[in-house]
Amino acid sequence: MSDVAAPAVLAPEPLGILGGTFDPLHYGHLRLAEEACQALGLCGVRWIPAGLPPHRAAPAASAQDRLAMVRLGIAANPLFSLDDSEVLSSQPSYSVPTLQRLRSQLGLQRPLVLLLGVDAFLGLTGWHRWRELFDLAHLAVATRPGYELAADQLEDVLAEEFRQRQCHAAAALAAVPAGRILTFRITALDISATVLRALCKAGGSGRSGASGRYLLPDSVLEYISTHKIYS
Ligand code: ATP
Repeated sequence: MSDVAAPAVLAPEPLGILGGTFDPLHYGHLRLAEEACQALGLCGVRWIPAGLPPHRAAPAASAQDRLAMVRLGIAANPLFSLDDSEVLSSQPSYSVPTLQRLRSQLGLQRPLVLLLGVDAFLGLTGWHRWRELFDLAHLAVATRPGYELAADQLEDVLAEEFRQRQCHAAAALAAVPAGRILTFRITALDISATVLRALCKAGGSGRSGASGRYLLPDSVLEYISTHKIYS
């Protein structure tokens, strides 16, 4: 009998998934993904810009422009990758079919961690087939200035899911492929795409003093200005 130990079967590392409209991408998004990698032990974050977001008004920038802005903003980080499937699809961008597709690509064992800010989590029950999310991925909910994850802010059905699924350590996400909820604190950046769109619009003439500078990557700002996205 051989005395060579069988190689340990390494559990696949959790992969982060960050969806959004990214209209435009800003440092709030980038810090969320960066700090999630560190705090949750993710092997990377897959960025998935929504094509036709069903839960909100149509984005101001086209899907192709939003895709281009995310591409520029994440380019320097080898842990970040871009997924253009929702943008290229003619179907509304629902998270459940997107996660089902990722599951079929990545297998049933890989822990998937859907990254959300608190504001998005508070509205989860409005998402299409939201309960099925827990069969497909964990949820990691990051702090965001202006939003509180207080129990009385959650609808009863979501509060109950939260109570049953909440875990308190990143290791719990790595242990199973899906189904847990972890909250985590990130650097508080009170930046929103809504405010940035207004700033870019007001600053279009260059005379008002309004600018998005230092709130989003220069490459993205330059793209907005070159292509006159919000002016
Ligand atoms: P808008 O102002 O147009 O609603 P947004 O700035 O909220 O846009 P989204 O693309 O809707 O950006 O957000 C994608 C995800 O990133 C969501 O889960 C959201 O909660 C999270 N997020 C966005 N900005 C921040 C921030 N400053 N801090 C923490 N999370 C954020």
